[in-house]
Amino acid sequence: MQILNDTTDTLIKELQSPNSFNIIITTHHKPDGDAMGSSLALFGYLKQLKHKVHLITPTDYPSFLHWMPGHNDVIVFEQNEKRCKLLTEAADYIFCLDFNDLKRINEFGPVVENSKAKKIMIDHHREPAGFDDYRYWTYEASSTSELIFDFIKKCGDIEKITPEIADCLYTGIMTDTGSFRYRGTSSNTHRVIAELIDRGAQNSLIHEKVYDSNTPMRLKMMGFVLYEKLEILPAYNTALVYLTREELSRFNIKTGDTEGFVNYGLSIEGIKLSVLIIDRTKLVKMSFRSKGDFSCNEFARDHFNGGGHKNAAGGQSSDSLEMTISRFTEVLTQYRDQLK
Ligand code: 5GP
Ligand code: MN
Repeated sequence: MQILNDTTDTLIKELQSPNSFNIIITTHHKPDGDAMGSSLALFGYLKQLKHKVHLITPTDYPSFLHWMPGHNDVIVFEQNEKRCKLLTEAADYIFCLDFNDLKRINEFGPVVENSKAKKIMIDHHREPAGFDDYRYWTYEASSTSELIFDFIKKCGDIEKITPEIADCLYTGIMTDTGSFRYRGTSSNTHRVIAELIDRGAQNSLIHEKVYDSNTPMRLKMMGFVLYEKLEILPAYNTALVYLTREELSRFNIKTGDTEGFVNYGLSIEGIKLSVLIIDRTKLVKMSFRSKGDFSCNEFARDHFNGGGHKNAAGGQSSDSLEMTISRFTEVLTQYRDQLK
């Protein structure tokens, strides 16, 4: 893995100086395992350097991540707007992890944008928007957590990776690589994982905590989705699932409950694109996963105001669910050859 853009040399000197800075760490809305893993790890590390550090997430995050060290210190912007604004106004540095466009942090975006603090972007998604003052970026990394490991190592502080920090980074790498199977998983990823286990990461326990956290209802919903809602569009080697608001409330769906659903479509032999469309309260949320050369990032960017990685991206639509589905099937016709 090669860091494509690293402008953090002077920043690192500053952070290592005896000064104590006010630092905010933030990550994208509805944070996933990598967003929380990288943020909580950096939080634990910067606190050891005696800085005053706060971790602000734009929204809540799934309960299967609530066991993570530092969870109780997380401030949710939606629930504490006033305090978050004051903290951000007083900040010297704002670390932006696992996203590269301020629209990914919702209403917290303008607050960050207007802050006088220097912004540091550490991320592995394609096509950074460019709001940052410093960056540590490459789309070649498996995860932002792998980048945080490298960043701490670059700071000369690998010894400061405690078992708690190791747990956080392990979680981020594990979730963003689909348990070490996606294409972004490199030999470096495995070397980092080995080092994290040596430093106390509880690998087997973490798999249990993250993946064996279903409620009976969630498993039943999964059965319903796979049995009743999975559609195959054979001409496009595409699998599609959509969920209506009625279905979401019938199964009492909460943040994180639909995580991983989109991967099932991709497990069907021959399927090259899998799509999950969910009718959330404000917007229709879309998840895209692909195999091979089909670029989910470009597809999401060009048609659904989103982005992400080549084989995994997200997007949204402000149309109705029905309109979104018909717009999706309409644009798909342009990709018939690519998806053959
Ligand atoms: P998911 O489908 O799990 O929400 O997202 C898949 C990947 O795409 C994640 O890495 C996520 O951060 C990214 N992603 C999801 N939605 C968006 C979006 O609207 N814009 C951008 N740039 N990336 C997104
Ligand atoms: Mn990530």
